[in-house]
Amino acid sequence: MVAKGAAFFDLDRTLIAENSGLLYARWERRHGRIGRGTMLRGLVWGGLYHLSLIDIDKAYRSALAHYVGTRADELDARTAEFFDAEVRARLLPGAQRAIAEHRGRGEPAVVLTNSSSWAAEAAQRAWGLDDWLANRFTVDAEGRLDGEIEPPICYGEGKATRAAVWCEARGLTLAASTFYTDSYSDLGMLEAVGYPVVVQPDPRLRRVARKRGWPILDWRA
Ligand SMILES: [Mg+2]
Repeated sequence: MVAKGAAFFDLDRTLIAENSGLLYARWERRHGRIGRGTMLRGLVWGGLYHLSLIDIDKAYRSALAHYVGTRADELDARTAEFFDAEVRARLLPGAQRAIAEHRGRGEPAVVLTNSSSWAAEAAQRAWGLDDWLANRFTVDAEGRLDGEIEPPICYGEGKATRAAVWCEARGLTLAASTFYTDSYSDLGMLEAVGYPVVVQPDPRLRRVARKRGWPILDWRA
């Protein structure tokens, strides 16, 4: 029997051209829920993250500190509202085609992102994918964020680890799977799948993709 795979899709700068974390920071700022300093820190992190230069664990905890004590169901509702207002319409045309193509072949399409579980779930539902893998923030007995993230963080090697577990539970393999991303930080997951594809890649990833002969796409057109 031929091993079957899935199609994994990074969210930020892959399914959409922007970083949803930065869009969220701006939206929160517009609604007066975060201060200017917090937003600027978010923008700085967003930029550094894009260049794969930061300690992601530290950046996450620092960003999360702002939300400690906030109810998870409130953040879920707020993220859903944000997603509908600012993200839903941004799905890139090429991304939409790729999702349909894989699903048409019977391969599940999965959002694989380092954004929050709420954003990932909103994306999966809105854009008709089959599942999502993302960061879940743990809560206390009253359902309020306690500042911790379920390990492993869905970033770098953590993405590959989570995707492997997801495949195994469904009798699928990473070797038969495809992964689409823009970011050099996703190199581990690109190397783990049989069909790595880079989409509007950052300069570092573009160099790697050229060297290894990986397809380079631009979904913005
Ligand atoms: Mg990305």
